[in-house]
Amino acid sequence: MPRGVIAVPQIYSHSRLATFEDCPKRFEYRYVLKIPTDTEGIEAFVGKRVHEVLERLYKAADRGQVPSLEKVIHRYHRLFEEGFDADRVRIVREGTPVEFYQQMGERCLTGYYRRHYPFDGDETLGIEQRVTFSLDETREYRFQGIIDRIVRARDGAIEIHDYKTGRRVPTQKQLDEDRQLALYQIGLADRYPDQPMRLVWHYLQQDRKLTSTRTPEQLRILSEDTMSVVDRINTETEFKPRRSALCDWCEYNDRCPIYPKERLRNGRAEASSSETTSNPADPKLSSATPDPITRQDGQLHLFAKKPQADPGSRS
Ligand code: SF4
Repeated sequence: MPRGVIAVPQIYSHSRLATFEDCPKRFEYRYVLKIPTDTEGIEAFVGKRVHEVLERLYKAADRGQVPSLEKVIHRYHRLFEEGFDADRVRIVREGTPVEFYQQMGERCLTGYYRRHYPFDGDETLGIEQRVTFSLDETREYRFQGIIDRIVRARDGAIEIHDYKTGRRVPTQKQLDEDRQLALYQIGLADRYPDQPMRLVWHYLQQDRKLTSTRTPEQLRILSEDTMSVVDRINTETEFKPRRSALCDWCEYNDRCPIYPKERLRNGRAEASSSETTSNPADPKLSSATPDPITRQDGQLHLFAKKPQADPGSRS
């Protein structure tokens, strides 16, 4: 390892790479310096509760015991109320009540339940499945991830399902370039050899299901591009901060050298008035509001990153 290069974790995930691409300084705080944080954003908190409820729902359905919608929603509110701690869970959009977010999670689950009941349209092969794999034969580029649900569809295809609780839905082009689920497809290749695979996203707020497929050549290019990002991380020494719409949600903004201190209040970030809704109860938040997306690990990332054409530059 070259002098001055800081050791970084040797097993990667899409989330780690996305954190680095969004902001190298945040990556350094989280994965190199491992600075602990005891807070999380309300969006991440709601996303985790929704994932937990869907996990339980499919496990029950597997046993032939599909719960009623009322029970599912009751479970969600119980998990929400047991886990919510106003001192720990941050609401960045000043003035938006916690009930707004709680109801948003309920809407996500209600729409999904009604669309998929009685949950026999496909065969569940795995729920919250951890997958580990290498992008190269020497196992230098090792990855891990957790797949929300692995499915055998009616047409025999293996599907990789992912639940999203964010507000915005990407374009088909953005999904066709998405890295996360395509990496999982690479990770599942040994488990399901020579079987057609499909990538499936459930955008729960909008009750929309979107799909994409990858050719072997696309997966090969993705693999090479992803290894290039790992190489950039492994040779990074500066970890410069990169200002973006995500900074207000960043768990390290109180120590960040470029985050405006006047945006911190009582140790928390405060979204500017132009970024907050005039009517906090209105689910249709201002279009000027940044839309971080919440990944399963609770990390927030910028919406739909383009592939990196130049490994040395940011798209
Ligand atoms: S506040 Fe913004 S620039 Fe600073 S570390 Fe966080 S994401 Fe990076």
